[in-house]
Amino acid sequence: MAHVEENKIGIKGLVFEEPPVFELGSPGRRAYSLPTSTIPEVELQTLLPPEELRDPIEHLPELSELDVVRHYTRLSQWNFSIDSAFYPLGSCTMKYNPKINEDMARLAGFAQNHPYTPEALSQGSLRLLHELQEFLQEVSGMDAVSLQPAAGAHGEMTGMLTIRAYHQAKGNQRSKVLMPDSAHGTNPASCTLCGYDVVHIPSNAEGLIDIDKLRKLMDEDTAAIMLTNPNTLGMFEKDILEITEIVHGKGGLVYCDGANLNALMGVSKVADMGVDVLHFNLHKTFSTPHGGGGPGAGPVGVKKILEPYLPVPRIVNNNGNFALDYDHPESVGKVRAFYGNFGILLRAYVYIRTLGPDGLRQACESAVLNANYIKARLKDTYFLPYPGPSLHECVFNDKHQLKQNVKTMDIAKALIDKGFHPPTVYFPLIVKGALMVEPTETESKETLDQFIQAMKEIAKQAENDAESFHDAPYLSKVSRPDEARAARHPKLRWKPAS
Ligand SMILES: *Cc1c(COP(=O)(O)O)cnc(C)c1O
Repeated sequence: MAHVEENKIGIKGLVFEEPPVFELGSPGRRAYSLPTSTIPEVELQTLLPPEELRDPIEHLPELSELDVVRHYTRLSQWNFSIDSAFYPLGSCTMKYNPKINEDMARLAGFAQNHPYTPEALSQGSLRLLHELQEFLQEVSGMDAVSLQPAAGAHGEMTGMLTIRAYHQAKGNQRSKVLMPDSAHGTNPASCTLCGYDVVHIPSNAEGLIDIDKLRKLMDEDTAAIMLTNPNTLGMFEKDILEITEIVHGKGGLVYCDGANLNALMGVSKVADMGVDVLHFNLHKTFSTPHGGGGPGAGPVGVKKILEPYLPVPRIVNNNGNFALDYDHPESVGKVRAFYGNFGILLRAYVYIRTLGPDGLRQACESAVLNANYIKARLKDTYFLPYPGPSLHECVFNDKHQLKQNVKTMDIAKALIDKGFHPPTVYFPLIVKGALMVEPTETESKETLDQFIQAMKEIAKQAENDAESFHDAPYLSKVSRPDEARAARHPKLRWKPAS
C-alpha cells in the first residue's frame, strides 16, 4: 500500500464488506407484519396445475426491510458512477445527467401513461415526441427523424436498413459498405447484419480518411460509406465535403455515426456536410443515464430521399392533433415496441429545453475546450500518436511508459486508486495501447486539474517504481479480475459453503 499516495479525492476507507444476500437474515424475519388473516389458507397445489408451480427455492433469505435496504445500498457503493466522480471514458460522453430530467420523467402523467393508451388520451406524450423529433432535425439539419431505435447500434442498423431499402427500390441494393479503420466496433456489425460486406479504408498519417484510397475503393457496387465525425480520435474530418462528393458521385450514400455529436451540436449541422443518415446517441449527447447496458435511445435522422423508408409508426402533427402514422408502404417496418424508450426520449427532451440553442452550443464549446485543456497539459507526459487538432476527446498511449514496462492497462488500473474511472483503453484499434480521454463539458477546472495531477503522478510512479503497477488497483473491491471471463462466465449462482 506504500505506493498508493495520499490524495484528496480518492476512495480510501468505507469500502463496505457485503456477503451474498443468501448468507444474511434469520428464519422467520420479515419486512412487514400484517394482522392475522380471517380468510382460510389454501395450498397452492389445489389451485394451479403442477407445471405452473416453481420448485422451492432453497436457502431463500428471510430479511427485514432494513436488511434489504442496507444490502443493496452497500452493493451499489461498489459501483462507480458519474454522480460520485469523474468518468473520462472516451467515446462514451459520460456527462452529468441533470436531476431535473429525472424529476420530469417521474411526473405521473408521463410515468403512468400506458403505451396502449389511445392516441386521443396521449396527446401530451405524442406532442413531446414530435417536438423532440423537430429539435433533433434542427440540431442535425436532417429532414426527418425516427425516435424508435433503442441505442446507437440499433440506430446504425435502422439507418443501414433505410439505405438498403433505397438502393433496392432503385433496382440494385449493392453489396459493400466502406468504413475507416478507426470505426467503432458496432459499425461493421450493423453493416454485416444488413447483409453488407465491410471494406476498410486505412487512415492516413493524420488519423483521417485517406481521400486517394477512398477514391480508389468507391465504386458502383458500394452502397454507402459509414464514417464518424469527429472520428474516434476526436478529429474533425476536414475533407468531409470532398468525401461525401466522391461517394455521391458513384451513387452511394453517406452514413454518419453521430456518437460524437457532442463536438458539433449548436455549432455545425451534419446535413450540411453531405450526410444522408445519422444516428443520435441521446444517452451520450443529450444527458440521459447510461452505462451497464442501457436503456438508451438511438434516433435516426435522414434526408428527404430516405424518409419513405423510416420505421413506422411515424409521429405526425395533423393541425395540432398528434397521431401515429402507419401509412408508409416502403417503410423498413417497426424496429422497437411502442414509441421506443419513452423515458429516455423524455429526458433528452428536457435537457434540450433546459439548455436551449445557445446552451447546446456552449456545452459543445466547453466540451472541446475541456478536452484540449487536458491534451495540452498532458502532452509532454503521455505520447500523442496523432498530435493534430482534435475536438472533444484526446487519445494518448503508453509509448513513454512502456520503457519501464508500464502498460496502458497498468495506467488505467492505477487511476482507480486515485479515485477516477479509467479512460477508454485500447480503442480506437488503430492506436496501439490507446488511452482515450473524454472529459465532457460538465467537469469543472478543479476536477480536470485533479485528473491531470493524478495522471502526472502515475507517470512519475512509472519511472520510479514500475513494479508497483502490476498489482494496482490496491483500494478497490476487486483488483484485477480476468475481464473476459468475468464478462462471459459471470458467477451468478450462489452455492452454500460445503
Ligand atoms: C457508443 C458508440 C456507438 C454505439 O452506441 P450504443 O448506444 O452503445 O449502441 C457507436 N459508435 C461510436 C463512435 C460510439 O462511441
